[in-house]
Amino acid sequence: EAAQAVLDRARERGTTRLGVEAMSLLDAYGIPTPAGEVVDSPVDALEVAEDVGEPVVMKIVSPDILHKSDIGGVKVGVDHADVYDAFEDLVARARNYQPDATILGVQVQEMVETESGVETIVGTNRDPQFGPLILFGLGGIFVEVMEDTAVRIAPLAEADAREMTEEIQAAPLLSGARGRDPVDRDAVAETLCRLSQLVTDFPEILELDVNPLVVRPDGAVAVDLRLTIE
Ligand code: ADP
Ligand code: MG
Repeated sequence: EAAQAVLDRARERGTTRLGVEAMSLLDAYGIPTPAGEVVDSPVDALEVAEDVGEPVVMKIVSPDILHKSDIGGVKVGVDHADVYDAFEDLVARARNYQPDATILGVQVQEMVETESGVETIVGTNRDPQFGPLILFGLGGIFVEVMEDTAVRIAPLAEADAREMTEEIQAAPLLSGARGRDPVDRDAVAETLCRLSQLVTDFPEILELDVNPLVVRPDGAVAVDLRLTIE
C-alpha cells in the first residue's frame, strides 16, 4: 500500500520525523492536498511549477527544520521567473540555520486560496492509557497559545467529528463571522474521520499534525504535514 511505502522509506533513511515529503500519506486516505512535489534541483522545481500553476508556494524540506517559516523556509506567491532564485535561497537559509542539516529538497506546491478560508489544525497524539487521540483547533501560531482544542479518542464517528467543530471557542469563526461565508464543517469532520482511520491503521504513527488545514466554504485542503513515527 502507498501509505506503508512512505513510512518504510522514512525508516530506511533512519529518520523518525517526517514532513511534507510524506503528503502522499494524506492522499492515500482521501484527504485533499495541493498538487506538488519535492525536487532537488532548480530545473526540476521549474518543471513542477509549470505543471501546478502560477504563482506557486515553495518550502524547504528537512527533518531538522520543524517550523519552516521561522527560518524563512516558506515562500508564498512565487512566479515562475523567480523559481530558480527561490530554490537557491531556501537551501541557503537552511544551511545558514544549521550547516549540517539534512536537506531532502524543496517542495513546489500549488498555491491554495486562503482569503476565504480559515486555517485550522487537525492532529493526533497517542495517550498511554486511551490510545490514539484526535485533535481539532484553530491553526497557525495561536494554537499553542490559546489551548482552544477539541479532543476525542479514536476511532471517531462522523457525529463526534462534527461535534468537535462546534465545541471549540473559536467555532463562530467557522460559521462566517464578520460577513464572511461559513466554511465547510462537513469537510473538517470528514478529514478528522479519515485521520482517525489513518492512525488506527498505523500504530507506528506516534504523533501527526496537519497545520494548517485550510477550510474554505467549498472544502478543506491540507497544506502542511508533520509526523513522528516509532
Ligand atoms: P511551517 O508551519 O513549517 O512554517 P507551512 O507549510 O505551514 O510551514 O507554511 C506556513 C504558512 O504558509 C501556512 O500557515 C499558510 O498560511 C502558508 N501556506 C503554506 N502552504 C501554502 C499553500 N500551498 N497555499 C497557500 N498558503 C500556504
Ligand atoms: Mg505549518
